[in-house]
Amino acid sequence: MADIAELPSPAEAEALIRERVQALPIESRPLASLAGAVLAQSVRSERDQPPFDRVMMDGVALASQAWREGRRRYRIAGTQPAGLPPMRLDDAETCLEAMTGAVLPHGCDCVVPVERITVDDGVAVVDERTPVEPFWNVHTRGLDCREGDMLLVRGTVLGAPELAVLASAGLPRADVHADPRIVIVTTGDELVAPDEPIEAWQVRRSNSHALRGALNLRGFQRVAEDHLPDDRAVLGKRLARHLATHDVVLLTGGVSMGRFDHVPSVLRELGVAEVFHKVAQRPGKPIWFGIGPSGQTVFGLPGNPVSALVCLLRYALPAVYGMLGARPHAPEHVPLGAAHVVKDGLWHFLPVRIEQSPALGLVAMPRPTRGSGDFVSLLGTDGFVELPPGPRELQAGFIAPLYRW
Ligand code: AMP
Ligand code: MG
Repeated sequence: MADIAELPSPAEAEALIRERVQALPIESRPLASLAGAVLAQSVRSERDQPPFDRVMMDGVALASQAWREGRRRYRIAGTQPAGLPPMRLDDAETCLEAMTGAVLPHGCDCVVPVERITVDDGVAVVDERTPVEPFWNVHTRGLDCREGDMLLVRGTVLGAPELAVLASAGLPRADVHADPRIVIVTTGDELVAPDEPIEAWQVRRSNSHALRGALNLRGFQRVAEDHLPDDRAVLGKRLARHLATHDVVLLTGGVSMGRFDHVPSVLRELGVAEVFHKVAQRPGKPIWFGIGPSGQTVFGLPGNPVSALVCLLRYALPAVYGMLGARPHAPEHVPLGAAHVVKDGLWHFLPVRIEQSPALGLVAMPRPTRGSGDFVSLLGTDGFVELPPGPRELQAGFIAPLYRW
């Protein structure tokens, strides 16, 4: 067995994964299907933003010069709604009603909100204490960005602001990396589905549901499932099929040293090139990673539920984002809310709950499990932090990267 010192650290394992994963093809998709996708093109602003001097409040548009000269009463000469070409203010004794989102009428340079005026027989009377000045309540043309400015680059994960920017650039479609076809393959003769009768010595299958949940929550929807027995022949046959039809194969179980842990050898026989087996971490040390004959990403995640979920978040998700060409993003860093002892020379993934502390602000409160089979203790936690190898005692305030469930 490999000495701990020879095993990659989590950061080294992540770097190996990033180096090896292969890019998914690029496709053009309509805007409504792009949430969470990774952009494979750049996007420049179609126009100045805002594209015209935009009225920011419902009120009356007028010339601030008239205000400075002492005028407080303005005859309402018309109404400027949103979506119509600009009207013109003909003389400084008048104003134009103007609606939020309208173009500022010619001859006006500010908008007095309705709350500041009273209307008396077609005349707007402006409250004396109103702070009228040029461009008051006007969002001036080009203030946010100019036509042609680079707004989005390749590798950007499309969230709400990015989708708004795409739409505002007049793009009904965009080039993104194809959604990965993912299959979760659980293994183990002792495992029984949630809807099947169960014997006292059997265990419910939960990993596929936890992993699928974490993937679905991040927008990955093309997730298939299979469950296989600890049988070399069956594993070989079914995994060959899954490799042929998926970009990402996530196995759980069967990667340890047990007599029925066939996964690594079966994968090798199927031409999946091993990149690493085992990482210097707890839990999840037996994790296996390789690249399939046509570039598939293949993980053998340990079967214990805490290990499987932690390894999915720490390694498999970054692998998928790598295949999508997403720029790597650093995890959040959070101080520990209490001291924690790391007992051995492995990196530790410690479940935590994010809480508000009077002294330190947001902190990660340690919520250790009773081992990697204890997924019940994950209830009420928000994720896990990655702690450096011990033996050592980490004090409250020690800052660690946080991975949310
Ligand atoms: P293995 O890695 O196959 O040795 O499995 C380690 C432990 O995790 C065993 O106690 C298994 O019963 C349990 N386990 C494996 N797969 C699952 C699963 N899909 N759902 C729940 N527990 C599992
Ligand atoms: Mg097993």
